[in-house]
Amino acid sequence: IVDAESPFFLTDHTEISRLSKSRNKFDHKGTFGHALLLAGSYGKMGAAVLASKACLRSGVGLLTTHIPRLGYEIMQSSVPEAMVNIDRSDILISEHPDLEDYKAIGIGPGIGTKPNTITALFELLQEVGSKALVLDADAINIISKDERSWKLLPENAILTPHPGEFDRLVGKSANASERLQKAVVLAKEKQIVLILKGAYTAVINKDGKCYFNPTGNPGMATAGSGDVLTGIVLSFLAQGYPSIDAARLAVYIHGLAADIFVEDGYVESLIASDIINHLKAAFRFLH
Ligand code: AMP
Ligand code: MG
Repeated sequence: IVDAESPFFLTDHTEISRLSKSRNKFDHKGTFGHALLLAGSYGKMGAAVLASKACLRSGVGLLTTHIPRLGYEIMQSSVPEAMVNIDRSDILISEHPDLEDYKAIGIGPGIGTKPNTITALFELLQEVGSKALVLDADAINIISKDERSWKLLPENAILTPHPGEFDRLVGKSANASERLQKAVVLAKEKQIVLILKGAYTAVINKDGKCYFNPTGNPGMATAGSGDVLTGIVLSFLAQGYPSIDAARLAVYIHGLAADIFVEDGYVESLIASDIINHLKAAFRFLH
């Protein structure tokens, strides 16, 4: 597609290297922000665990994960670095904590689309103001059906749909090129950042500029790999990166970690946790 008003770019390594800030001797936890993640439900606490670990492995200062009550011990024992905030519901997210304490908010992995969760997302969007925000997975499925929430999406919010989720948002496309065109229109119209996931993930800014990502491999077509991306995006938002930079950095490093895994592993064997475990090598490669 060639459109003078919506230029397309291929992201390269030096560019991402330059975007990524390095740490200073006297930095402290406060420097890197406090993130709030709302994730998980009965049978899907793994999504909360994966996104939380990925967020912490990407340099956030502090992380609080809001989860249904049944996930308390799961979270505290598998991610001791995260603080946990418990919902009044045992099995799903039905409310949200006071947003004031947090620099950035992420919602979606494993939350389901039950009525109480639809209400919780609506209430969160009413209070989120201009805070940095990333919506993924079922949060996207919810706003696809809930007009009230859709209208409340704040400027600069990041949405991370895979093709299925994107189609639910705006209707089916005949092919990838039509989907991409629709995404550019949507990003401009809603003034949001879209991460249209897949091979050569497209990160689309609110001005319509589209950045294709060169990292990643088909090994990432596996359960939980999107949840890992959400955690990384949230981490960069909490660290103060503008939405477009947070999105481009996150997508690049997520794919790079998976590429490093396949150097001495193989695509079939890749699981989402492997992406998290190779983030350290990806960061090293970046700096
Ligand atoms: P999800 O479907 O939400 O779990 O997200 C899947 C993640 O894996 C996204 O970040 C995709 O960009 C990535 N992914 C899936 N398939 C591929 C592929 N063939 N090449 C590169 N990345 C992929
Ligand atoms: Mg997903």
